[in-house]
Parts: sequence; structure tokens; C-alpha cells
Amino acid sequence: MAWLDATGVQVQIRGREILHHADLRVERGRVVVLVGPNGAGKSTLARTVAGLQPLTGGGVAWDGTPIAELSSRKLALLRAFVPQHAPVPAGMTVREAVELGRSPHVGPLQRPTAKDAGVVDAALDRVGLGPFATRQLATLSGGELQRVRIAVAVAQASPCVILDEPTSSLDLGAAAAVGRLLRHLAADDFAVLVVLHDLALAAAVADDVVVMHHGRTVASGAAADVLTKERLAGIWQVDAELTTSPGGATGLHVDWLAPPALDPTHHPLDAWETTA
Ligand code: ADP
Ligand code: MG
Repeated sequence: MAWLDATGVQVQIRGREILHHADLRVERGRVVVLVGPNGAGKSTLARTVAGLQPLTGGGVAWDGTPIAELSSRKLALLRAFVPQHAPVPAGMTVREAVELGRSPHVGPLQRPTAKDAGVVDAALDRVGLGPFATRQLATLSGGELQRVRIAVAVAQASPCVILDEPTSSLDLGAAAAVGRLLRHLAADDFAVLVVLHDLALAAAVADDVVVMHHGRTVASGAAADVLTKERLAGIWQVDAELTTSPGGATGLHVDWLAPPALDPTHHPLDAWETTA
């Protein structure tokens, strides 16, 4: 049984159908990467399986339990969610921020225990921020801050971590560090679901790539099978090819300046280039 199993998920927001049909399975020890153009529904699907957005059709089950039967406290023990624009609390140290991840485990009138402190230390070490524990968040780089956000999720100690575009504002080195961290989490038996924009990074970190387009999951599998030249042209409207070197380095060769091939399934709202 998959840790997370979502089938035929539909979501309407204010009467508009945003997700038409999305399927997703995430096993422990694996990294599943959600990709797709802007507006495809990746964030909505991530929020829906996380229990942050109600579904209007289909099913989501965590470890075999339908999501409707799970309280928010129970959900917090099953999955941690790192939103795309997670706010950074002001005037806090790195350690204090990561301690927030323990809140589902600490009762309303309880103080964090020695066990909680140990989990926080381990989470800081896991993301390589042990030496930063007493630093103020305001003094960190973008890449370091993103690792703090991931450490908060790791400290929550739920078996699944869901991350929405954790590398979108990071430079190359910081993005690669996050990519390595995602692989380490899977090696530690976490189920990892991550939305990524960078398809070369997606191919490098994913066990499975799931492609979304217009509110549907349209393909899933190994990156090389799923991110084909034809699909890159049909969905992203670019002439591009995913490459993998014998050593495993991935790249996306893009003919940046070639005009996009017209795709009859392309949604007019996304196709500003062809209507401008
Ligand atoms: P992605 O993350 O793939 O860029 P999103 O899931 O954010 O896509 O959005 C998918 C579609 O749903 C977009 O057209 C977006 O405008 C719409 N949408 C998302 N959230 C809301 C909302 N709260 N209210 C109205 N429309 C929304
Ligand atoms: Mg998004």
C-alpha cells in the first residue's frame, strides 16, 4: 500500500473546476516530482493531498485511511507541508524556528521535552544547519532559509514531506543542495512529494515524475520515459530534449528561440504567445 494514494482527485474553487482528474501515489523511500506549466494545478494538488484544500471528487488516502477520517492533528503526524512562500517568523533563531515543527507532538500546556530537543538537533544536522542553530533567521541566505523550512518539516517527524517549489528562488548551488537533501530524506525512508519547475533537477532527483496539464495528471513514470521531446513540445511549447550523461548528470537542451509548435489541446489562457 502506498503511503499516499490519490485517485481521480477533483477540486472546485468558487465554482470553477481547478483539478479535473489527478492520480498520485507516493511510497516511503521514494521521491515523486510533480511538474507542469504554470497554472497546471500542481500547488492545488499538493495542498489537496496535504488536506489543506477540500476535494470535490475522487479520493485521497494516507496509509490506507481516507483523508476525511483524519483530524488535522492526525494528518500532522502523517505528512509535513512546506508551502511555496512559507513566511519567515521575525526575530527568531534557526533553532527556535525548527522547534515549531514539534508543535503537533507537544500538548497545549506542555513544554518541549528532551526528546523534542533531540529531534530538533537531528533535523538541524539533517539539513546541514547544526552550526547555524543560534543564528537569527534574518541573517540567512535564501538557500539557508529554505533549508530551515525543510528542517521544520523534518522535525515534525511525519513519514511524508510535501514541498511546493522549494528551489524556485534559489541559485544553482543552493538548488542542488536542496536536491541532494530530498534524496537523503528518501534514503531515510521518508515519502517525498515535491513540485519542481526545473526539469533537469526533477529528472535528477525523481524516482517518479508526474506531469500535470490543465488540472490533470497526464503521465507518470521514470523521467526519461515521461519527459519526452514530444511531451515537452506539446505541454511546455518548447523545442527541448532531456539528456543524461553516462555519469548521471542531467540537462535540458532547449532551443530557446524556436517558435513554439501549435498544440490544438493548448489552453488559450496559457497561449499568450500565440494570441499576442
Ligand atoms: P500551479 O501550481 O501548477 O502553477 P495552481 O494549482 O496554483 O497551479 O493553480 C491552478 C489553477 O487554479 C490556476 O488557474 C489558478 O489561477 C487557479 N487557482 C488556484 N488557487 C485558486 C484560488 N484560491 N481561487 C481561484 N483560483 C485558484
Ligand atoms: Mg504552484
